[in-house]
Amino acid sequence: MNAFDLALSRLRPRLPSPLEPVDDERFTRRGLRLLLKRDDLIHPDLPGNKWRKLALNLREAAGRPVLTFGGAYSNHLRATAAAGRLLGFPTVGVVRGGELADRPLNPSLARCAADGMRLLFVDRATYRAKNDPAVLARILERLPEDGYDGYDDVYAVPEGGSNALAVRGCAGLGGELRGAADVAAVACGTGGTLAGLAAGFDGRTLGVPVLKGGFLGGEITALQEAAYGGPRGEWSLDERFHGGGYARTTPELDAFARDFERRHGARHGLAIERLYVAKMLHGLVTLAEEGAFPSGTRIAAVITGAPEPRP
Ligand SMILES: *Cc1c(COP(=O)(O)O)cnc(C)c1O
Repeated sequence: MNAFDLALSRLRPRLPSPLEPVDDERFTRRGLRLLLKRDDLIHPDLPGNKWRKLALNLREAAGRPVLTFGGAYSNHLRATAAAGRLLGFPTVGVVRGGELADRPLNPSLARCAADGMRLLFVDRATYRAKNDPAVLARILERLPEDGYDGYDDVYAVPEGGSNALAVRGCAGLGGELRGAADVAAVACGTGGTLAGLAAGFDGRTLGVPVLKGGFLGGEITALQEAAYGGPRGEWSLDERFHGGGYARTTPELDAFARDFERRHGARHGLAIERLYVAKMLHGLVTLAEEGAFPSGTRIAAVITGAPEPRP
């Protein structure tokens, strides 16, 4: 074990994450078994898929400053900032929305700042062009003069944390489900988690995109190409459950999440994260009611994260 792996293991991640059978009559009535894959319990500050996606990237960064990108409510920015505090490396967050620079930080960004992340707000056009090295260099010129001179050597992690190393990290999730489930369901933002999960799993992976657009299939294929040189695993997407797009919700979806918490929250110590997890569970219940799964199917619903802590 190298020094970095040792530091990571000292954070005592709960791996493999628990797999909990749920007694839900919407499934049992059809002979289906629902299991919750509790990635939300992996680590209090680096929950869910964020741990799996960051671990190999942080090892690769080897203590260099880690720079990454996200919107004002990005779970990935928060997880990266927390990792920097816990493991002792500098972090830089490039945040979409230049206008935010003049406003008080929202709770999510305040948490990032409290964890020592340097925040750089950029307008949307610059944000879109962030993968151009010249644009990134100009962004980095704005880093505060805080006496730290190691920023020439930053390790950049893409938006949402999805790259080849993230995909390989998420293959561990698929490995933990091997033999234990026939179907794994996961919510998708960038699709990095699904790309790895499907590669490591021996059953069928079902993705529920939370963004509108229908472009995700191509991105998942590209991520698997980058990580493995070709397609891996059996996976498909059901595009019906985004509820209007990223961070959008409907009264129906919110009622669904509250009902799910009422049924199972107390017994499982479960709060439903609304932007991703609620949409995936809603999709699964709908598919079960449509008769999409044959009797006897074991379905693992991946709880990829926990709700935002409220101040
Ligand atoms: C970030 C996040 C996702 C999206 O993961 P991708 O790898 O980008 O598809 C899903 N669920 C939760 C709770 C998240 O925070």
